[in-house]
Amino acid sequence: MVSIRFPVSASIVFIATIFILTGCEGITSDFKDPKKPEQGQSGSIDGGKKDKDENQGKDENKEGDEPIELPTSSPSPSPSPSPSPEVEIEDVESLLKKAPAAEELVLIRMDFDIADSESRDASLVVYNALRAMKLIAFDQEIPLLQTANLYDWLKSLKIKIRIEEPEDKSEPAMDEILLFRTELEQVENRLWYDKAKGQGIMKLIASILHKARHTKPGGDVPHNCSKRPRGRDSGSFEEDTNLNYGGAWAVEVSYYTFIASHSGVFVKDEVSKAAANDEAIKLMVSRFCTKYSLQP
Ligand SMILES: [Zn+2]
Repeated sequence: MVSIRFPVSASIVFIATIFILTGCEGITSDFKDPKKPEQGQSGSIDGGKKDKDENQGKDENKEGDEPIELPTSSPSPSPSPSPSPEVEIEDVESLLKKAPAAEELVLIRMDFDIADSESRDASLVVYNALRAMKLIAFDQEIPLLQTANLYDWLKSLKIKIRIEEPEDKSEPAMDEILLFRTELEQVENRLWYDKAKGQGIMKLIASILHKARHTKPGGDVPHNCSKRPRGRDSGSFEEDTNLNYGGAWAVEVSYYTFIASHSGVFVKDEVSKAAANDEAIKLMVSRFCTKYSLQP
């Protein structure tokens, strides 16, 4: 039923067509009401669960890498930093090579309630993900999120971002995103996309968006379907019925599709764009109970 192997260019064109020309209506007829459950599907369970298995990478050896330090100054909200002037347009890879300026951190902290980690490396990765989200201006709105800027969407939710220490096993609150220190600290998160490991800030952002969709301000859209037979003791749903449901997997598919085809000058690395396209296809095939034919 589902075709899997096809050229990247063709798949980009196909997925881009879904989202752009039709505003997702090529496959779905109503992509803007994510709270509406699909008919015939049972209720949802997972809600704001931790999603530990989704997208964030594996533990990797980070020995031999130089530590990255956050600026040691502790900016307070009291200064009134001027917004970023319209200086040079940076791409996301070069952005991540520079440590964030104190003024940038002040602005981000004004926009987000972030509970920092004791680990400066982990905190820096979160700030870098937010910086990248802010920088990338897509060339059109993402229909599902109704914005062309991911930072703006996340900011509008007024959610908290908390970095969880390994010993902490608490669940996130319904207005909170939980990120895991040990995963943030992985060395590949110093890059936009680590080709060898298939990880990086690009994928971390997908994970942040995914979790944000599960929060109450983000739509409170839990997974509502399971592709695998659910045993008597099986836990929560892990898949969504379809794109139209507008759940966390649809948010990820939208995100990756837009990185692949609408990130313009902000993502210059074609390898990461191709990887984003591949990721969108992989999610389409694996994370929806509806079987999509991806053959153009
Ligand atoms: Zn989820």
